[in-house]
Amino acid sequence: MAPEIKYTKLFIDNEWVDAKSGKTFDTYNPHDGSVIAKVAEGDKADIDLAVAAAKRAFHRNSEWRQLDASQRGAILHKFSELVERDWNYLAELESYNNGMVISLAKALRLVNLIRYIASCADKIKGDTIAADGEVFSYTLRQPVGVSGIILPWNFPIYIFINKVCTALAAGCTVVVKPAEQTPLTALALAALLAEAGVPKGVVNVVNGFGPGAGTALTHHVDVAKISFTGSVEVGKLIQQAAGTNNLKRVTLELGGKSPLVVMDDADLNLAVPIAANAVFAHQGQVCVAASRLFVQSGIYDKFVEAAVNYAKGIKVGNPADPTTQHGPQIDGEIMNKVLGYIEKGKKEGAKLLCGGKRVGTTGYYVEPTVFADVTDKMTIAKEEIFGPVQSILKFDTLEEVIDRANDTNYGLSAGIITTNVNNALQFAKHVESGIVRVNSYLGGGPQSPFGGFKDSGIGRENGMDALLAYTEVKNVVISL
Ligand code: NAD
Repeated sequence: MAPEIKYTKLFIDNEWVDAKSGKTFDTYNPHDGSVIAKVAEGDKADIDLAVAAAKRAFHRNSEWRQLDASQRGAILHKFSELVERDWNYLAELESYNNGMVISLAKALRLVNLIRYIASCADKIKGDTIAADGEVFSYTLRQPVGVSGIILPWNFPIYIFINKVCTALAAGCTVVVKPAEQTPLTALALAALLAEAGVPKGVVNVVNGFGPGAGTALTHHVDVAKISFTGSVEVGKLIQQAAGTNNLKRVTLELGGKSPLVVMDDADLNLAVPIAANAVFAHQGQVCVAASRLFVQSGIYDKFVEAAVNYAKGIKVGNPADPTTQHGPQIDGEIMNKVLGYIEKGKKEGAKLLCGGKRVGTTGYYVEPTVFADVTDKMTIAKEEIFGPVQSILKFDTLEEVIDRANDTNYGLSAGIITTNVNNALQFAKHVESGIVRVNSYLGGGPQSPFGGFKDSGIGRENGMDALLAYTEVKNVVISL
């Protein structure tokens, strides 16, 4: 049964309101392309109202600013209980609007993430400084202000929770602009935050499109920080916008073309499923997807055969079915983009060994696809596909593969599968990547810094560093 859709309006100042323009837009179920709701379409006028509410809520005398850090933490702990209470519903809504297979949606351990962030709220502290002269010098960490949070469509609940809870733990107020493809779960989470006791104006959610609501938020003079997850292309626009009317702080979590290296000494029984999950999980719509799979020449042929068998065994189907492993892409545009990359791969001489086609004629399904004999210059080895396409490249030495892995403007994630600790240490030291995993690929807890080198982003999510990025340092110097 389809999950009930309770909220479709904008959430501003703890109230559900229509867009000023009265406009709505359709949102879909990627399984069959059907319209599941009409959602209020916010634009500049609505962003202005939401930012004004967030600014009032950030005033030094506001209810929110009067709370101490442990009280903010307590509200977030309450929120974690509500998310736990409603978890099945939230996961079903995520799956319904996003196409994420229900087993993955349910498995995301977000209650723990909220609890971790909640417990960090009262751990923010300043320093005392050994200053010269007869002075006492110390620092305060204070919330940066109204924060604009712009979300992608691939992990809507997870990224909302991670960014919003971190901003709130630091004492900021927020205006959230969810992705236009997945507007629903952010509204359900906003309702739970209000139920948890977040005062009015602290959390505002304005659905709408990038060039409308998104641009208005990134240009707004009363927004002190933008935290964005999405494409490199939009990340660059956001960085420019952030410097236009004022000087916003930015955290950018962007795309990747991540290398996973399998050495000759690897155990194939371990390596094949890790590599498959690294690129096929969530239909490849994962920023850290291991979309360049480098396999050493000694095991190359055996590995390719096993990888193809593995991909052929992945169960494709309705994401609402708990046994489904592979659901649809988010929409027709993305599906066609992925199919376009597959055609390019064939044309440029990569060997298509399985998949490669759309599944059925309704919904946006693409078969798990494996290409072998991919070379570094091919488009499928250079551009982020964001779909279920495993590109296998052959290499001879570790030295060579490190250079090839680094030959990209991206630098989000990398992995190596090996039984030789020296290989792992050398790779971890020299690969240009914000995240390096050895003998595993996905995962990592809320304490682990998450973000990229080079064009993959600026700043890190998770842990205390992410929290501190929602604060300013104030130095106070007292003459003695
Ligand atoms: P996108 O960049 O197209 O859109 C992301 C968000 O930006 C949406 O909310 C959109 O409305 C908004 N937006 C678009 N144009 C804007 C503008 N001019 N000003 C302000 N906002 C604007 O990305 P997407 O297609 O939703 O997500 C996929 C991308 O996100 C991939 O590249 C993926 O790698 C990346 N991603 C990165 C991470 C990470 O943590 N590094 C996580 C998930 C996804």
